[in-house]
Amino acid sequence: MVHDVIIAGSGPAGLTAAVYCGRSMLKTLVIAGSVPGGQLMLTTEVENFPGFEEPILGPDLIQHMTKQAERFGAEFKQDDATSVDFKTHPFKVNTAGATYEATAVIIATGASAKWLGLDSETRLRGKGVSSCATCDGFFFRGKNTVTVGGGDVALEDTMFLTKFVNHATIIHRRDTLRASKILQDRAFKNSKISFAWDTVVEEVVGQQKVEGVRVRNVKSGKQDVLKCDGVFVAIGHQPNTSIFQSQVELDQKGYIVTRQGTATTVEGVFACGDVRDFHYRQAVTAAGDGCRAAMDAVDYLEGKALGAP
Ligand code: NAP
Repeated sequence: MVHDVIIAGSGPAGLTAAVYCGRSMLKTLVIAGSVPGGQLMLTTEVENFPGFEEPILGPDLIQHMTKQAERFGAEFKQDDATSVDFKTHPFKVNTAGATYEATAVIIATGASAKWLGLDSETRLRGKGVSSCATCDGFFFRGKNTVTVGGGDVALEDTMFLTKFVNHATIIHRRDTLRASKILQDRAFKNSKISFAWDTVVEEVVGQQKVEGVRVRNVKSGKQDVLKCDGVFVAIGHQPNTSIFQSQVELDQKGYIVTRQGTATTVEGVFACGDVRDFHYRQAVTAAGDGCRAAMDAVDYLEGKALGAP
């Protein structure tokens, strides 16, 4: 069966696209990923998604969006897209066990956490090294942790960790934070949080589990070992685009290049959300982008020029 549209990804971008495509009566298939829901599944309280006066849990928000898309007839497969073929029509999206076909494709595969790239970090991942405070914070009750990074996620994650930990240190490579002012204010007021400025992690110390981090001050060159039980890496994200590499144009950082609206370099293939947006990266901007991609796909399927009235 050839679907009208296949949506790869099931974060706020993919799910909003699914709501709009379903509501436009398109035969819509969402390849949701083996772990569906995207980054919101790793978030606790979302307090800036319009429409929710009180904070809503990230996984709950995803569940609402999924049910909304299903109400309009979108079909879901909880599987990873492993390769695609956009060189022939209909387009093909492959998973480990099946090939799905569609006239249009919307790429909404989002982005994933970056790592420092240290051998010791890889070795101790899951043994005290984590990129998800909301998933793993509970395991550090009464312990000491460090968070690497100076952005919104580093601060939000660390404030979340202070519900459990004895003390949390934020290690940042500069002397000013990238995070938004409101989060900075909250973090500076939190008595369980301290900061190691101008500092980089050179090694995660420990054999079977994390026992500390070897750090270096980039201004003084001074080295030190900070004892800790957990290391949370919150240094940003990279787009999930490896399977699209030889199919659509990517920029130098691997984000999908879009030209008019959400159109990629292949006619009939659209991209939305964090997979093409390295700047805003909010749940609400991803959702808005998913709406745009769906409208562009509808226009394409109806044979209209993109952006035409
Ligand atoms: P980010 O804003 O890109 O911040 C990444 C941080 O990690 C920066 O402070 C950066 O340092 C540091 N860093 C990057 N590579 C590093 C390395 N190799 N070693 C050490 N430090 C490194 O990423 P994010 O915090 O994940 O946030 C992503 C996006 O989501 C942002 O747009 C953010 O505003 C948004 N967000 C918003 C909210 C909210 O509004 N409530 C919540 C969460 C996230 P430099 O500062 O020196 O570059």
